[in-house]
Amino acid sequence: MLPLPRGGSGSAGGRLERRLRLVFESRREPVTITWLEGASARPHPDRLRRALDLTERCRPPGVETNHVLRTSGHLLDDDRCAFLGANNVLVGLLWDGPDRDRVPAAARLLRRHGADCNLICPVRAHDADRPLELYRYLRDEVGVRCLQFVPVVEQAAGTGPAGAVTGRTVRPRQWGDFLIAVFDEWVRRDVGTQFVRTFEAALASWLQPARRARAPDAGRPGALPVHCRCCSVLFACEAGHPGDRFAVAPDGEPGLNHLCGGYRAFFQHIDQPMRVMAALKRLGHDAGEVMRITARYERDNRAERPPGLSSGTGDPRARSAGRRSMVHPAPLRPS
Ligand code: SF4
Repeated sequence: MLPLPRGGSGSAGGRLERRLRLVFESRREPVTITWLEGASARPHPDRLRRALDLTERCRPPGVETNHVLRTSGHLLDDDRCAFLGANNVLVGLLWDGPDRDRVPAAARLLRRHGADCNLICPVRAHDADRPLELYRYLRDEVGVRCLQFVPVVEQAAGTGPAGAVTGRTVRPRQWGDFLIAVFDEWVRRDVGTQFVRTFEAALASWLQPARRARAPDAGRPGALPVHCRCCSVLFACEAGHPGDRFAVAPDGEPGLNHLCGGYRAFFQHIDQPMRVMAALKRLGHDAGEVMRITARYERDNRAERPPGLSSGTGDPRARSAGRRSMVHPAPLRPS
């Protein structure tokens, strides 16, 4: 991640130019450059323009380059959004911090100017109980097409028991229910039109020819607990975010992810529809066909479905009444 240039010349500009040249030397195409706009930065319409000009100067001929701007949205106005849209800069908007209330308006402004926006949405304990309300608000009212849900996990400071967390921290079961409720809505109507990073990453895992997790061997730095190494969804979960691995596994081994139970429930729940989508893609079809297959399955099996499971309400009681996915792949199951 690179800071936006402050001045056109001088030592800071020279340092940035050297870093850009290193980026182009060390990466394969296409090169994605992420620019960071600090929350305290003062508005300056030319900073991003200078960043793009500098990149053009450093870019070897023919190398494809994508730009991402990470910002809290506090500096976005009509002119900047128009510039971002015209230059195909993807804007990563963080829905957090002191400018949180301004982010939906910033996302709408970007959409109006045709600029792509990826909204990073932290999920706290109180957000996790209203998954569909949150997802539909962002989709329908804010109009965001790319979403990244990030669970808030904070270890409690002080003298509490090992593994104690703050009140804002999402609980494992809550996180699993949150992802499941959003996924069930997405797989019914939004595949191909809404990009939810967790689901797209999961599909990439199901598309791997051999489902193996990239985990260091036992005894090496970063090695995972046995509980993870024996887990059937390790290939997709990859033990979650390394910073959240402070829980204790059932066998007493430390290093388990605080959200383990939620991840396990979620990845087990999506197994069938993910198999369908992976099979569709391997056959050269659009993964979005899963929505038609889901609808057909639900129509044909209405009587078997646990009451409330397919209502799309996101009601946790309905989900716990039946953990089975509503999508069954039947003839499309891959090997
Ligand atoms: S679901 Fe739990 S046990 Fe399985 S890989 Fe993830 S954190 Fe490890």
